[in-house]
Amino acid sequence: MKPAALLALAGALIATPAWADTTVIHAGAVVVDAQSQPRGASSITVTDGRIVGVADGHAPAPEGAVLVDLKDRTLAPGMIDLHVHLTGDPGGDFWKATVEPDEWDVVVGAKNARATVLAGFTTVREAGSGPETAFALRRGTAEGLIPGPRIVAAGVPLAIIGGHGDVNGFRPEVNELLDTGFTCTGPVECAAKVRLASQNGSDVIKITATGGVLSQQGRGLEAHFSDAEMKAIAETAHSLGLKVMAHAHGARGIEAASRAGIDTIEHGTYLDEAAARAMRENGTVLVPTLMAFQGVTERLGKGIYTPVVEDKIRAVAETARVFMGKALRWNVPIAFGTDAGVFAHGRNAGEFALMRAQGMTDRQALASATTVAAKVLEMDDQIGRLAPGYSADIIAVDGNPLEDVTVLEKVDFAMVRGRVIE
Ligand SMILES: [Zn+2]
Repeated sequence: MKPAALLALAGALIATPAWADTTVIHAGAVVVDAQSQPRGASSITVTDGRIVGVADGHAPAPEGAVLVDLKDRTLAPGMIDLHVHLTGDPGGDFWKATVEPDEWDVVVGAKNARATVLAGFTTVREAGSGPETAFALRRGTAEGLIPGPRIVAAGVPLAIIGGHGDVNGFRPEVNELLDTGFTCTGPVECAAKVRLASQNGSDVIKITATGGVLSQQGRGLEAHFSDAEMKAIAETAHSLGLKVMAHAHGARGIEAASRAGIDTIEHGTYLDEAAARAMRENGTVLVPTLMAFQGVTERLGKGIYTPVVEDKIRAVAETARVFMGKALRWNVPIAFGTDAGVFAHGRNAGEFALMRAQGMTDRQALASATTVAAKVLEMDDQIGRLAPGYSADIIAVDGNPLEDVTVLEKVDFAMVRGRVIE
């Protein structure tokens, strides 16, 4: 069974009567999806967390139903961010790993889950956390115990020993103490770690395929895993029905990850024409996370980052302003993701203006965060559109996002799985 189908099944099992009722939303206009023209005045009927009807005009709500009046607003599909780190807030204090327990990460994550959903993001892909923290948040928002988006979670990322994603920057005995157990060397061990992640509850496998900007190591931004290791990771994950998302900056690292069968490239900073060709040929999707570059650049020179990290940020800042535009021109598929956590959660929609500045149309940008992202998650029959049978993941804004996608920076109303978020 596909992961999307499993998620749907999990949803069905817990969707017992806690909110077994009907809500009718009166809307001024409705953006059904990023491909169609908006509807005018409409009523959307939601029952038990699903959209059951989209009709013209404002018919009175049936007996017992809750009526939500958004007659002066435009409804749009809840947005999807394919790259967030809910359990962390921005900052350069890498030593915090030594003083803060995982339990604290869950508290921080609950705060950030609410900020994320109030910003209109009703589904997120959690791109790397402690062993259990993102899974606890995933259950918390699914059961409605905490306000937040639907969470598709990676858990602990796979990394090479001492690479980006592994513990680094400490004395060896401290590194050993903080080891999360997800480094691997050689195809056999890497395949075993994918199976372990699956056993622990990962919905997707995250790997750090190349060096990274915010870790305390200065070994460049090219491929860290060998081709054989990445191939083993991709094949093992796919055999378990899981996709692989790879953090990658260097061009040869991107190309190698794509050829190994990795499904999405996160960041993709130094993408060149050969890497773009590999991505096109293999159907690899780019998740550009432009807000991450914006966020770290804003905090340069303030004594927040260590010197090794400051140097790496300065080196990527210029490229970050142009690489997504190149990918677009080279016809690489692009889906929305921000790396929230590297900047403050809730600012996710700031990504749209940055995408537009590199050549995306408003419509393409909205699609990247709805239909395109839903397809990456293999959930395009459940989320990313407002249509009967789809999950009632609905947001309201002032204006038409198809004409100006930045109206999504100010979301006035958010509903996830039929629950209004407050
Ligand atoms: Zn990230």
